[in-house]
Amino acid sequence: MKILLIIADGLGDRPSDQLGGRTPLEASNKPNIDYLAKNGMVGLIDPIAPGIIPGSDTSHLSYLGYDPNRYYTGRGPFEALGTGLSLEAGDIAFRANFATVDGRGMIVDRRAGRIREGTGHLARSLNMRIEDVEIFFKEGTEHRGALVLRGKDLSPQVSDNDPHKEGVEANSVVPTSRQGEKTARILNEFYAKSRDILSGHDVNRGRKEKGLNEANAILFRGGGMVPELPNFDRKYSVKGGFVAGVALVSGICRLAGLKQYKTEGATGSTDTNLKAKLTGAVDGLRESDFMLVNIKGTDIAGHDGDAVKKKEFIERIDKAIGEVLMDNLGNLVVAFTGDHSTPASLKEHSSDPVPILIHYNGSRKDGIGAFSETSVRNGTLRLKGMDLMNVLMSSANLAEKYGA
Ligand code: ZN
Ligand code: ZN
Repeated sequence: MKILLIIADGLGDRPSDQLGGRTPLEASNKPNIDYLAKNGMVGLIDPIAPGIIPGSDTSHLSYLGYDPNRYYTGRGPFEALGTGLSLEAGDIAFRANFATVDGRGMIVDRRAGRIREGTGHLARSLNMRIEDVEIFFKEGTEHRGALVLRGKDLSPQVSDNDPHKEGVEANSVVPTSRQGEKTARILNEFYAKSRDILSGHDVNRGRKEKGLNEANAILFRGGGMVPELPNFDRKYSVKGGFVAGVALVSGICRLAGLKQYKTEGATGSTDTNLKAKLTGAVDGLRESDFMLVNIKGTDIAGHDGDAVKKKEFIERIDKAIGEVLMDNLGNLVVAFTGDHSTPASLKEHSSDPVPILIHYNGSRKDGIGAFSETSVRNGTLRLKGMDLMNVLMSSANLAEKYGA
């Protein structure tokens, strides 16, 4: 049997005034998902552990069987993955800001006027080589970006140059252990060179003419080393693939060695082409045994505080499941869940456990339709994220007995 894991990002929620006290799942009309729930097993999953508020990075690591306590090495590498930079194990990555410094080198604006335009041009001008180290800079949203160093003998054991305040100079980077000496030297040289390049850049000349703060310095912080994830295919003796529109999730799946299947119109937003995504996943399962599909729209609606939009997006997911999957259930283990809750009332992730359903031919039938946060409480499943792959593998008859 093949495994299809559909992750509606941020699916879990809380009762909403916008929906008469119901959650988006409770309020939504979703006959296909309810059918799968009724004829399969349901329950709740804690993506990391009870009370821990997951990020999408830590929860996806956990769901794929990589303990985030071991493999999550700080925000730098994962933010860098989120910008779409393609990273390799051993790269050193930092979160970074475009900032404004004055003629004396004092920071006058840590966010360079929340610059929006021209950041791609600025970022490309900062890709360089210092000694034997390749340096990549990639813009993110507004003033944010990621700084990545690739080379030999690098270490994240260095201080930040970001002083986290204005009216002072950027800190010079110092190693926090001997391993960090080369990295600190390279970073200090990068700061000096980037100041020169940015100060003379066309984008900044244009900003100066308009009276906007120039993006003439790079502040970086939160450095970490991109972890080496044991290869997914070898770990589980299967061929794994994924479909995702979001750079962060794609980056994690690629680090794990999952094969990316690109589909038409997968945008990582609420306007994404859900039918194309699921069709792409089912097609991919002809050659792969396991497929992860991340659908981001539910999380976005949650962050927007829009429970109605979240409900409607769930209905669109259900429609796509109906069109693509319901006639193809024969040899499939289908799991549907979220990577965490993003209650619209909070506009942020929460630690609330997430409803999950697992359906396959011959599975236990919990008989609980109307799939929601509350309805699944009496179901079979009670999981932590790190259990999920084991449960899916054994559901697909791909697991081995533990013991004699
Ligand atoms: Zn997420
Ligand atoms: Zn989110």
